[in-house]
Amino acid sequence: MTIIDNAHAGSVSSLGTPRLLAGVDQVGHVDAAHHRALHGDPVLRSRAWLLGAMREVNLLGRGGAAFPVATKLEAMPTGSSTAILVNGSEGEPASRKDRTLMTAVPHLVIDGALVAAHALDTQVITIAIHDPWSYESLVRAARERPDADAISVVRTRDGFVGGEIRAVINGLNAGVARPGGRRHLPHTHGMSGRPTFASNVETFAQIALLTGMGVADYARTGSPVEPGSSLVTLLGDVVRPGVLEVPNGTPLEMLLPGQADAPVLIGGYHGTWTRAAHDLPLTRSSLRAAGAPLGAGVIARPFPGTCVLSEVAAVSRWLAAESTGQCGPCFFGLPALADDMQAFADGTGSEAQAIRRLEQVRGRGACAHPDGAVQFMSSAITTLADDIRVHRLHGACGRPPSAVLPLPRSAR
Ligand code: SF4
Repeated sequence: MTIIDNAHAGSVSSLGTPRLLAGVDQVGHVDAAHHRALHGDPVLRSRAWLLGAMREVNLLGRGGAAFPVATKLEAMPTGSSTAILVNGSEGEPASRKDRTLMTAVPHLVIDGALVAAHALDTQVITIAIHDPWSYESLVRAARERPDADAISVVRTRDGFVGGEIRAVINGLNAGVARPGGRRHLPHTHGMSGRPTFASNVETFAQIALLTGMGVADYARTGSPVEPGSSLVTLLGDVVRPGVLEVPNGTPLEMLLPGQADAPVLIGGYHGTWTRAAHDLPLTRSSLRAAGAPLGAGVIARPFPGTCVLSEVAAVSRWLAAESTGQCGPCFFGLPALADDMQAFADGTGSEAQAIRRLEQVRGRGACAHPDGAVQFMSSAITTLADDIRVHRLHGACGRPPSAVLPLPRSAR
């Protein structure tokens, strides 16, 4: 394992040869000259080439939904009315992978944006970021190179729901960072009403690697079904807490040594608690098939002998507070569910009541927030059933809180 310490991201490491994080072990922040030495100039390819290459390596979006990037690109019109939106608004408190990418290797993100813009024959490129260090890093990187003149780097509102791509677009268009509804599709009505190719910062960095390396070299690492590598954020009782670049297909037991049946949170605060992570390979398709999508790329395992229920309750309360208040089931349902999760921690919870409320909220919001929160809470009820029973019997379990799930200071 290559270990890198990054001033803004804490521990950063890679399993195998780093690709996205190439050079970070030597210099921490890869500037323009070092980036060019490592990767050369961005390799600009036609839309047809890019579509074919994305399909050959089954490139999936790195923002959470893991949507096939080629399908998204294919739906885009070409020409100057089309916009590119690079979403660096990492609102997930448990994730640091996007911030790491933007502070350590900003030029790879810019290369990916330029490659996508060339394929779609446009020069309208926006990089949206809320983290101040990431913003400064991208602004400085864009100034370092003449080919980035057309790129706008803009600050966005902090927040979990505010970082969702449609909320980012609404925030930039109208100053209100709220999701515009599930039918509000960026590829038809995005930035300033333009058709917009929008994806996560890591997706763009992967696009830059793909055109730079070519399909065969890109596919030399990773899984046959999902070639390449991914960035994940590891928390708690894991091989090494921090941001890790890992070849796709790596067995999760390599990241989670020992404790094979311990509860693990996969995907972040819209993710899934499971005791079956150990035997799975780290591919988006296999984790989705196992009911625990990789989502925001967070993998957290509490330490043995600690209490998880109080942390689950705290995250549930924070998720409820993140509702933008536009949809009744989300605005009223999530606080009631947070009360249910606190009741489990206090030893007074009712599974029947919580499950009834979960079903009243599921699928009833204008965005994915309530569904993600429901997934987090419902999987906790199932996976932590023994803990809930102990708390009910004794009022608590007597163990210290697990303290592996970060929240903004204001939420503690
Ligand atoms: S579902 Fe919740 S977070 Fe999403 S738009 Fe409606 S109120 Fe806001």
